[in-house]
Amino acid sequence: MKVSLEYLYHFCCDYCGSWWSRADIEPVSGEQVHCPRCGKLNTVDAIQTFRNAARGSCLQKAPDPHVP
Ligand SMILES: [Zn+2]
Repeated sequence: MKVSLEYLYHFCCDYCGSWWSRADIEPVSGEQVHCPRCGKLNTVDAIQTFRNAARGSCLQKAPDPHVP
């Protein structure tokens, strides 16, 4: 049996506070991402990991249930 690791990145909108996830494609600082809920353009300014982040800063509320 082979086992693979999946990286799951959580994005938090600076404008509406919604969050969503993206697997395996690593974000880079300066990347621009549209929020799937409010549509505003966010810029990635840092990638926090379990080593340097306050745990769960994106995940304190449920993701938006209306995101397709
Ligand atoms: Zn938003």
